[in-house]
Amino acid sequence: MSANRSYGSLDLFKLFAAMLVIANHTGPLASLSPKADFVLTDIISRLTVPYFFMTSGFFFFRPRREGGAGKPPVKRFLSRIGTLYGVGILLYLPVNLYNGRFGSDSTAASITKDIFFGGTFYHLWYLPALIIGTLIVFGLRTWLPNRFVLAAAGALYAVGLFGDSYYGVTTHSAQFAGFYGQLFDAFGQTRNGLFFAPLYIALGAAFGSAAAGGSRIAPSLGGKKRYAALFAVSFCALLAEGIALHRYATPLHDAMYLAAVPAEIFLFALLLAFGGKSHPRIRYMSTTVYLIHPLVIIAVRGFAKMTGLQSIAVGNSIVFFAAVTVLSLLFASAIAILALRKSSPKAGGQRAWVDINLAHLDHNAAVLQSALPSGTSLMAVVKANAYGHGSVQIAKRLYGSGIRHFAVAEIGEGIELRKRGVKGDILVLGYTPTDRLAELVRWKLTQTVIHADDARRLQAHGGKFKVHVKIDTGMNRLGEQSDHDDEILSMYRHSRLQVTGTFSHLAEADSLDPHDIAFSRKQIDRFQHVVSLVWGAGLRPGMLHLQSSYGILNFPELAMDLARPGIALYGLLSSESDATRTKIELRPVLSLRASVSRVHVVEAGESVGYGRSFTASADTRIATVAIGYADGIPRELSERGGSVLIHGKRAPIVGRICMDQLTVDVSGIDRVRQGDTVTIIGEDGGERITAGEMAKRTGTITNEIVCALGTRASKQYQTEQRKRPGKKLVPGIHASR
Ligand SMILES: *Cc1c(COP(=O)(O)O)cnc(C)c1O
Repeated sequence: MSANRSYGSLDLFKLFAAMLVIANHTGPLASLSPKADFVLTDIISRLTVPYFFMTSGFFFFRPRREGGAGKPPVKRFLSRIGTLYGVGILLYLPVNLYNGRFGSDSTAASITKDIFFGGTFYHLWYLPALIIGTLIVFGLRTWLPNRFVLAAAGALYAVGLFGDSYYGVTTHSAQFAGFYGQLFDAFGQTRNGLFFAPLYIALGAAFGSAAAGGSRIAPSLGGKKRYAALFAVSFCALLAEGIALHRYATPLHDAMYLAAVPAEIFLFALLLAFGGKSHPRIRYMSTTVYLIHPLVIIAVRGFAKMTGLQSIAVGNSIVFFAAVTVLSLLFASAIAILALRKSSPKAGGQRAWVDINLAHLDHNAAVLQSALPSGTSLMAVVKANAYGHGSVQIAKRLYGSGIRHFAVAEIGEGIELRKRGVKGDILVLGYTPTDRLAELVRWKLTQTVIHADDARRLQAHGGKFKVHVKIDTGMNRLGEQSDHDDEILSMYRHSRLQVTGTFSHLAEADSLDPHDIAFSRKQIDRFQHVVSLVWGAGLRPGMLHLQSSYGILNFPELAMDLARPGIALYGLLSSESDATRTKIELRPVLSLRASVSRVHVVEAGESVGYGRSFTASADTRIATVAIGYADGIPRELSERGGSVLIHGKRAPIVGRICMDQLTVDVSGIDRVRQGDTVTIIGEDGGERITAGEMAKRTGTITNEIVCALGTRASKQYQTEQRKRPGKKLVPGIHASR
């Protein structure tokens, strides 16, 4: 999971950058030294916005799966940043109206220009620039080879430079000046999404690819010290550039500098080298500070005016800056706390819950798809409530990423999907009783014909059915025997059955033992025999499918029309230790969590729970956790060395697991309190407990473990990845995370 390391220092610097933006808009040193103020506000603080662009590009274009492929979520990005921008526009609309910004002299064209480039309020230009810049880089990365992307973005930047701090140079030539005159007419200034943003977004994207490739960024450049030195050098160059431009040329603006490019590159490399835990709250705060600080500026000015404190609060630039910064931070942290609390799993008195990471589902579907020949599509197996993951949400998500075939175990599961609006083909894998056959037609479900007599039963019923024919090639469960040629052919000849597919199931695809492989090959041969037979008789077998998860992983080369993964879609192998021929990185979709309901000390010699199976040998701190075997936790786990995670550490389960509760020893973990989040399956901090571990301890397969979890505990669906349990990531200026 190299693509998802912690980038905590990027988050921290983002908050610092937001404060520099406040400096840029308040001029903290103005009343001390105009020169120092110039250096701070017109040069140093210009590093902030490029940095925002870079982090956004970094996270947005970060490869979604191993090997670098996987499309960035453009729609989600547009809706998120678009919403943020919409909020910003509305927030500042009263101020704009008060200032007469959209007065009688505005035209539709000027307002459009304002929305696409100006931002409608002075700091908001960043958001449309982020959107336009990201779309440009997305286009460049789609259409150009990688090495030209930076060149193209760099060329745009060069055009921008001469309309900005290098403007003085252009005025020597009438042609040049004329060209820029037209640019300014069209776009206002060049500090925008066309000329400014693409280069930094593309640089961030390049960093993202490098990080996901597992390589430390530009390893030849060396570690932190080297980056720090290189940053220092380019920073000095930036200062020199800024000062020289102001002395010898006449910059039109001072947003874009040449030396800012290497300065940003080395700054970013340096921050990445520091790593550190992610800080979702800080990230949220940075975005909020950026959005609201101009309002705070207005408020502080207004307050000073009302109270007659202008000379201190506004006249002293440092006090003014400090007041705006402190108030913005306070306000932003209050909003962050409120917003994050709202999305915390503890809200609503959650006892135990299942977290479903839909981004991991996307990832698994993508890697499974990429393991198969290009002509093979996925039929997602969502039976048993999608193995405990919630079939409706899983099917809808997969439909959204292009999957059009689903399989369920029985008609009721299929109807449930249809009632909740799932589209696409739904195949019922099992037997449907005669008195329910009419519902197949009503809900547009495809029925499996499980042998030749079954086909006759359907034909006799009178409805018109869409069916897939099942062939038994050695599993001996369902299907017409593969050597019953006449019986097989009869299934394709019924007037009321429309055969849209033919399939079989492998019995031992999970084994790489040569004997078992030989058996699977025999099954494959038998299936192929049936297919030839059907074609040979002038009939059509429809879509062919044979592989379930292990069939894909161990026999990926089979060129079928469909493949039917179940367990692998959910990021699991049935047994963690299974070797497979195809090595793909699966990401578990499900985590199981619960809350601590009580923490207390059990004195040495006392026992815990039913049957007094655990007796404390020393004073022991015990946490009671509100989850039990009725939630699907195997009862024998406590005797098989099972543990849970609290605050990123393992706590052994002690005493017998009850129906709704279990007890763990937290003597080794500090500050465990009522309400804390406990992870039974999933990650917390650096630690993780897998469904595979639990399955191994209790002598079963992960399929059984996760299926048992799906009923009682409520489910929470996340579209983004979470770093820590209990803290939902929030939209920020980062495109995606
Ligand atoms: C359950 C099932 C699958 C999915 O199996 P996994 O091992 O979970 O991938 C595929 N095909 C059929 C017929 C099934 O019953």
